[in-house]
Amino acid sequence: MLPQPQTAVPPIPATQQTRPKLAYVGRFAPSPTGPLHAGSLVAALASWLDARAHGGRWLVRIEDVDTPRCVPGADRLILQQLADCGLLPDEPPVWQSQRSALYQQALDDLAARGLAYPCACTRKDIEEALQHMGRPRERNAELVYPGTCRKGLQGREARAWRFLSHFQEKKQAPALTGYAQAAIESGANPAPPHLTCWTDRRLGPQRQDVEADVGDFVLKRADGLFAYQLAVVVDDGAQGISHIVRGEDLCDNTARQILLQRALGLPTPHYLHTPLVLGANGEKLSKQNGAQALDTSDPLTALRAAGKVLGLHTKADSVGDWLTGATAQWKLMDASHFLRQRE
Ligand SMILES: [Zn+2]
Repeated sequence: MLPQPQTAVPPIPATQQTRPKLAYVGRFAPSPTGPLHAGSLVAALASWLDARAHGGRWLVRIEDVDTPRCVPGADRLILQQLADCGLLPDEPPVWQSQRSALYQQALDDLAARGLAYPCACTRKDIEEALQHMGRPRERNAELVYPGTCRKGLQGREARAWRFLSHFQEKKQAPALTGYAQAAIESGANPAPPHLTCWTDRRLGPQRQDVEADVGDFVLKRADGLFAYQLAVVVDDGAQGISHIVRGEDLCDNTARQILLQRALGLPTPHYLHTPLVLGANGEKLSKQNGAQALDTSDPLTALRAAGKVLGLHTKADSVGDWLTGATAQWKLMDASHFLRQRE
């Protein structure tokens, strides 16, 4: 038998294009900036139910990459609150703060392929560049990075690393999976190449021009910490996450994350963004606006309230029975596309 010819080194080391269809792996990925509140339990419960309804695995990942914002002990408290509600991960949780080597490897990979570049700009530099371009920032709007350092640092000192957001116009994107692929194949809305399109299981078709709306976003910050977007994408890829179920407040990160997945040769998971719980003032319940810590001394009451937000009206007298009933109801809702807010 002839020896197998040596194949060329693949351009994308982390490629998963030849991987068989992923088994269901879901995750809940809280930031330990405080204990769970009523809103974060909705996302945790939805991701757990979706994994159980699909016969999949459910993981918990502590997103403590932004260490200055983390509250000591909040991670343990969150895990205890989840356990109180019967939401136990199928594998030991991982902490992002212990995974910097993986993020650096991904950044090095992107930089080697010209998809990440160093940036010397301060916030003031960016504001001035936008002013100069006649694009002053709208009130409360995020600064759109104008790409100043794409052409090099011009002798300035590097502060951060940014992602080249328009790379997909030039490069072949790897195969997509699931809804992202279906959205493209449907051909109903052939998307211009600068738009990143995907379909949310609840919110329907979504699209964003990342370059115009966000610009080349940060992968590694000036303080040396890895940015949320990079850490999430690297971890979802490394953990084989097939389904992302999370709060709607994270929806506008999705296009950036899909671009990064493509650049790193990772498959795009299915996405489902869950409804937010609003506070008395009509604003999203969050740790930032002082949401009360979830009281899990009566987990059944906490689960019933979270389930109601998701349209579940399960009747049971124990946490175990409630979760079993809710999983059955979730299956029916998913199958009947009831999860979708609009068709
Ligand atoms: Zn710059």
